[in-house]
Amino acid sequence: MKVFFRCIICGEKHELEYSDHDDVYMYDCSCGHNSNLLVQKEKFELLYDMGIICIKKGFYKEAVSDLASSLERFLEYVIRYILIDTGKQYDDISKVWKSVKNQSERQYGAFLYLFFNQFDEIKNINEKQVKFRNSVIHQGTFPTESETKEYAKYVFNYITDILNILDVEIVEGGLKVSKLFKAQKIIYEQNPLHAEYNRHVSFIDIIRKSYKNMDFESIYDTFYQDNTLDVYYG
Ligand SMILES: [Zn+2]
Repeated sequence: MKVFFRCIICGEKHELEYSDHDDVYMYDCSCGHNSNLLVQKEKFELLYDMGIICIKKGFYKEAVSDLASSLERFLEYVIRYILIDTGKQYDDISKVWKSVKNQSERQYGAFLYLFFNQFDEIKNINEKQVKFRNSVIHQGTFPTESETKEYAKYVFNYITDILNILDVEIVEGGLKVSKLFKAQKIIYEQNPLHAEYNRHVSFIDIIRKSYKNMDFESIYDTFYQDNTLDVYYG
């Protein structure tokens, strides 16, 4: 996936091919700056942004796929967050994760029990939305714009509701639970004078921070009009 960012020193625009293979990216400016870059967005944020962009471009089937992936990766984020928060080690959690890595139903089960144990709340995913997601992803159904936006709204509300219960900012949580934690160490060890963090706004993040009293539709319209995400994803 391509993302765009600007050098913090001179503002030159750069294109980055973001993948799961790299934690730290190197770039060179034409004016001589070379830096290490760390993308600080969590995967569920990137996927959700992709979903919103697909809706805007009219690719509703692809949007549902991205939004569903965002939800799954968010459950992983919460599982890891709760385990870290209760004293488990990053590497040990990753070892356990290998057993459920390829089975989303197991991950969902782990999430439900961990969350219930920690907060005394049951956070089932709505059965109607699960059926909708499955029909689009497994049966080739082409969803309408309104169905897709309804799904996006549901996923958004589900994620932000839980983030509010965790009472954590995404970056703070991410530094605890994800590869960013390790990458941040690497980036400083490699080149401490040229360490840079890429923390562009994400759909989920901006709403939580700046638009707490606005609903999904209002935020969506705001993003639609000012092309906030386009600046980042091109
Ligand atoms: Zn530069």
